[in-house]
Amino acid sequence: MASSIVLFGPPGAGKGTQAGNIVNLTGKPQISTGDMLRAALTAGTSLGMEAKVYMDAGQLVPDDVIIGLIKERLTQQDAVDGVLFDGFPRTIPQAEALSEIAELSIVIAIEVPDNRIVERICGRYTCGGCDAVFHDTFNPTATEGVCDLCGSTQMKRRADDNEATVLTRLAAYHAQTAPLADWYRQRDLFISVNGDQDIEKVGAEISAVL
Ligand code: ADP
Ligand code: AMP
Repeated sequence: MASSIVLFGPPGAGKGTQAGNIVNLTGKPQISTGDMLRAALTAGTSLGMEAKVYMDAGQLVPDDVIIGLIKERLTQQDAVDGVLFDGFPRTIPQAEALSEIAELSIVIAIEVPDNRIVERICGRYTCGGCDAVFHDTFNPTATEGVCDLCGSTQMKRRADDNEATVLTRLAAYHAQTAPLADWYRQRDLFISVNGDQDIEKVGAEISAVL
């Protein structure tokens, strides 16, 4: 398999927002473990039901579940030229498993201070038609309730996008995910971009890196 990219950062950093641009630039498909888990939940699978307990609590889903999902996803034909991982890996064991199944060219970290995260996540909504990401204040749709990209009027908010759960998710990020930064720095794969600026400016920094 050709080399893949990891989009790294705390919840609400802007990974999903920036992913579309990276997909357009590289042609690599986005693999978001969060989206896969939510799809499993919507489909009512036992995996989705198991994951829901952790997601609602703001905790990470166990590594074996996530690694199994990723291994299966990487067998699909569109993954042969590498992929864009969004929200994976989130623990050292996940990164170790990934190193055995895929080659990485770069880990792009979107850096955003904790004090910005709650307002970003609590104002997030997504389009039910095309999954585009919006924000009440920072990135609203041009016409209220209508997706700029596909015209759908099915806007959704995530059950786990509330202040109490965000704080638990941030704690999980610092305890379990942030240590991956050094893990990837030691392997010369880690690049940081400033996520605490306009969406377009973050996108320009990422484009320059790619
Ligand atoms: P992640 O995928 O990392 O959890 P999202 O891309 O879903 O994050 O972004 C979280 C929220 O913050 C969304 O509502 C999005 O519109 C908003 N957002 C993303 N990037 C920025 C930015 N650079 N400035 C302000 N708000 C942003
Ligand atoms: P996200 O959509 O990336 O914000 O993820 C939403 C939730 O899904 C997280 O709070 C976790 O409960 C779970 N999740 C997503 N990706 C992972 C992962 N790589 N490892 C463990 N749990 C994950």
